[in-house]
Amino acid sequence: VEVLIDGHCHSVIAGDLDRAGFELACTEANLPSPEGLSYLDSQVGLAIRRWCAPALGLPPHAGIEDYLSRRDSLGWQRATATLLRSAGLAALLVDTGLDDGLLDLAALGDTAGATVHEVVRLEHVAQGLAGDVEAATFASVFAETLHRRVRGAVAVKSILAYRCGLDIPATRPTPAEVSRAAGDWLRTGGPLTDPLLLRHILWTGIDTGLPVQLHTGFGDRDLRLPAADPSLLEPFLAAAEPTGVPIVLLHCYPYHRQAGWLALVYPHVYIDFGLTITHLGARAVRVLPEFFELAPFGKVLFSTDAYLLPELYLVGAEQFKLSLWRLLDEWCYDDAISVADADRIAQQVSARNAQRVYRLGQRR
Ligand SMILES: [Zn+2]
Repeated sequence: VEVLIDGHCHSVIAGDLDRAGFELACTEANLPSPEGLSYLDSQVGLAIRRWCAPALGLPPHAGIEDYLSRRDSLGWQRATATLLRSAGLAALLVDTGLDDGLLDLAALGDTAGATVHEVVRLEHVAQGLAGDVEAATFASVFAETLHRRVRGAVAVKSILAYRCGLDIPATRPTPAEVSRAAGDWLRTGGPLTDPLLLRHILWTGIDTGLPVQLHTGFGDRDLRLPAADPSLLEPFLAAAEPTGVPIVLLHCYPYHRQAGWLALVYPHVYIDFGLTITHLGARAVRVLPEFFELAPFGKVLFSTDAYLLPELYLVGAEQFKLSLWRLLDEWCYDDAISVADADRIAQQVSARNAQRVYRLGQRR
C-alpha cells in the first residue's frame, strides 16, 4: 500500500483527556464502564496498546496506565500529531457534522500532514435552519443553503439510520408533504426525526450531485440495529439509480454481506469498512475478507471512521493494512490471484477507488 485515503472520519479532541474520558472516546457505549471492568479491556484497547504504544516510544502492548501517562507527559498536541502522522494518511474526508471541541479542518490537516476534504452532514445543515425558516419555504431554503454549504466539499452524509431507520419508501416526498412535515417539526422543535423530512433532505443531498455517504450497520446506542440493515435501502437505491449519484454505505457490520450484494447489483453503490475494522481489533483479519466476497474490488473503500482520539486513525490504518496484506497473501499462496492482481487490488481499495468516487484532485 503506497497511498492511503481515509474516506470517512471525524476530527479529534483539541485537549487533554482523563482516563474516564479516554475510555469513553474508545467505545460506542455512552455510559462509563460498569464497576469492575474497563472498555479498554476489549479489541479496541488491545489494538491501541499494540499499534499506538510504539508510536509514542513505548514497547508494543505496554500497559494502558503506562500508555496514558506517556500520552499525558507528551501533551495532547504532540501525542495527536505523532499518532496522526504515524497513520500515514495522505488525505482525510472529514464529516463536519460533529464539531464540538474538535480541531477545525485546517488544524487537523496541518497536524496530520494530510490533505483535508469536507463531507457535509445533511441533518446538521437542516437542523441549523430551525427557527430561521417557515414551513412553506423550508424546501427551497434548505436546497439553497445546502448548495452553498457543499461548495468545495467532496460528499454529503446522512445519518438517517439513527433518526428513523433505513426502511424508507422509494419515492420522493411531494412539496405539500414536505411543507406539512416541516410545519410540524418547526412548531415542536428538537432534533429532526420526522421520516418524511429526513427522506426529503436525503433527496436534496442527491440533487447536489455529490456522492452520498450513508451510515449503516452498528454505531452508538442511539441506533435501532435492525433498522440499520442496508438491505432495507433497496427501494431507495433503485429509485436513486437513474441519477447516477454514488451512494457509499459506511461501516455495514454486521450486515456487510448484505451491503456487498447491494454493491454488486447496483452500479452506483459502494461499501466502506470504516469503524468495523477498528472495533474488531485482531478479528479484523477475519472480517475484512468478507467485504471482498460479492462486491467488485472497485466498489470497496477504506476509511477509519476515527473520531475524537488520534489513536483511532492509526489503529484503523494499521489493521486495514495488516488484514488486507493477510488476505491478498493468502490468495496469492492459493494461486487465486497473481502478484500483479494483489498490487492492483491494494491500490484500488487504499486510494484509487476514493479518488475516483469522490473525484479528488478535480477542480470544483
Ligand atoms: Zn463516522
